[in-house]
Amino acid sequence: MAAFLVAVDVGHYAAEPGVISASGRPEFEYNRDLAFDLKKELEKNKLQVRMIGERGDYAVLHHRTRDAQGADLFVSIHHDSVKEELLPQADRFAGFSLFISKFNPQVEKSLACASWIGAKLRVAGFTPSRYHADPVTGAPRPFADEANGVHWYDNLAVGRTAAMPSVLVEAGVIVNREEDKRMRDPQVRARIASAVAQGVQECLR
Ligand SMILES: [Zn+2]
Repeated sequence: MAAFLVAVDVGHYAAEPGVISASGRPEFEYNRDLAFDLKKELEKNKLQVRMIGERGDYAVLHHRTRDAQGADLFVSIHHDSVKEELLPQADRFAGFSLFISKFNPQVEKSLACASWIGAKLRVAGFTPSRYHADPVTGAPRPFADEANGVHWYDNLAVGRTAAMPSVLVEAGVIVNREEDKRMRDPQVRARIASAVAQGVQECLR
């Protein structure tokens, strides 16, 4: 039996590197570091990996899912922020969030994979952020699986343009000073990568 192929997408690109963290580092660099750790963990588990966007040159979102063609799962790696007016209180917000689109052609599989990833992150000691489902503090993204931190984000480009199941991972809130420090710690990053890889493994088998 052929090994499963996972497309690991590094969110954002050099010209638009995403959120700037509390310590002034662009999100793209956090995404790339975690994506490479995830690749290593998945390969350890005998899964095949195709990296997308790791050179920082993917400006057009649907090219990411197009170039993932043939993969069994698309996992997009990001780090989170909060709404601009909440930035002065950013240290209140922490934790991971997972997003799926109901317009993905394999929405049930997307949900199953997101739930497994969230469950494994929780086992590893990480906590869902929750604020994306709160209309006051975040964008109103209702829960698809509240316990495991999975939200509906229907117009999510890498969710709805993917032919395969697709999950977007916000690993942590890097505008929070403490969480920024954690996300920069190679040991924390390795634990996140390992947990995400275990979730992927569970949902694909
Ligand atoms: Zn992002």
